[in-house]
Amino acid sequence: LKSLLKDPTLFESRAFVAGEWVDAKDGKTFPVVNPARGDVIANVADLSRAEVKKAIEAAAEAMKDWAARTAKERAQVMRKWFDLMIENQNDLGIILTAEMGKPLAEAKGEVAYGASFIEWFGEEAKRIYGETIPGHQRDKRLTVLKQPIGVVGSITPWNFPNAMITRKCGPALAAGCGFVARPAAETPLSALALAVLGERAGLPKGILSVVTSSRASEVGKEFCENPLIRKLTFTGSTEVGRILLRQAADQVLKCSMELGGNAPFIVFDDADLDAAVEGAMASKFRNNGQTCVCANRIYVQAGVYDEFAKRLAKAVDKLTVGDGLADGVTTGPLINEDAVEKVEEHIKDVLDGGGKIVTGGKRKDGLFFEPTVVTGVTDDMKVSTEETFGPLAPLFRFETEEEVIAKANDTIFGLASYFYAREIGRVTRVQEALEYGIVGVNTGIISTEVAPFGGVKQSGLGREGSHYGIDDYLELKYVCLSI
Ligand code: ADP
Repeated sequence: LKSLLKDPTLFESRAFVAGEWVDAKDGKTFPVVNPARGDVIANVADLSRAEVKKAIEAAAEAMKDWAARTAKERAQVMRKWFDLMIENQNDLGIILTAEMGKPLAEAKGEVAYGASFIEWFGEEAKRIYGETIPGHQRDKRLTVLKQPIGVVGSITPWNFPNAMITRKCGPALAAGCGFVARPAAETPLSALALAVLGERAGLPKGILSVVTSSRASEVGKEFCENPLIRKLTFTGSTEVGRILLRQAADQVLKCSMELGGNAPFIVFDDADLDAAVEGAMASKFRNNGQTCVCANRIYVQAGVYDEFAKRLAKAVDKLTVGDGLADGVTTGPLINEDAVEKVEEHIKDVLDGGGKIVTGGKRKDGLFFEPTVVTGVTDDMKVSTEETFGPLAPLFRFETEEEVIAKANDTIFGLASYFYAREIGRVTRVQEALEYGIVGVNTGIISTEVAPFGGVKQSGLGREGSHYGIDDYLELKYVCLSI
């Protein structure tokens, strides 16, 4: 892998703790496997809880100077870091594809997306405005200060090994916080490469640590129990989010949670069908279906159901499955065996219930799976309540607007939703009625650093990106001055 990189020093398997590149004290490592080939590409330092504690202490120390700097000074370091990410986009993309599987073009897209949060929040650092409030008495002067919340502990998943981290450390560092990142054990290399560039950009020693560890729950406990940690930011499943929220309760730790989704994608009779197919392809099959905003339930109105199914299957047949580093590949492997089994389980359940495969449906070699479209899907099937997190497009048939809104909202989740329609009254009614944090109207792609990303209901707490995104890393302090 190193030989493919223009700058092999970006391929780092040691952890980054308190500004030092370190092996685990006891010498332990864990393997990182390329999901396309099944080979071990690195053995990464497997840190224990004591080393996480050290990283937290260093972040608290480093914060004193970092937070005292002017916003512009912090922004300049972040701008440099952003520039380095873009300069090294190809190498970062190769590392990302090798550990996670997504095609190189998508991986490079993620690197640009990930970097955009560093750029955006560096700029936002300069706009952390406080407030003055007209006093309630003649001799009172009221001000509201915004101050960094404190050291942030971060836990992220494997599906966006770069962007899930920058989306959190961007606002944290911009606000003046120290940051300790624990990347997913499947994909630590992208996080470590980011830290190499961060160090090069001039991030002060200790302000950012990357604590690689196979023992996620131990790291989670340290984050929840160490009093120096003032905020926990997590992206992952609702199940693990609940565990962390329970653990966080003892310290009344502030939490941001980006949890699971069960995104509805609705195609109305009056939709531009080709555009809807294009949107469904992007929303469903990007990252091989492994994103929390991927369409999970595709509802198609009766009048266009058969035609939509036909056109979608035709588009799906054009996808090329293979090793993400090979030319022309649009769809990589799934992340692991469990992920493949989940897709198989959902397909079997659809078939047992009387649904039909229009295209795909089978596992290929290794962790590769045929992109699949199934019809005749009903509300009692597993895919209606569980996220597949894989390349399965299940088509549900519906008759009326009222009916589909009720179905779309009938879930504990509320992250992303999508619909295609042209009649302006319907467009307005449906966007208002969907109980989701994000609604894509006539588009399947909604992510950008300039907009607030986040869920309602059990999909999470807080928002990432946009000018709102920095608020989660700031505390308000109300000062009442008597003159
Ligand atoms: P995914 O299915 O995307 O892996 P998870 O919620 O299982 O979603 O994992 C998200 C992240 O949370 C991963 O980095 C994982 O290692 C970590 N994790 C899993 N269990 C725990 C736990 N009990 N405490 C802290 N982190 C955890």
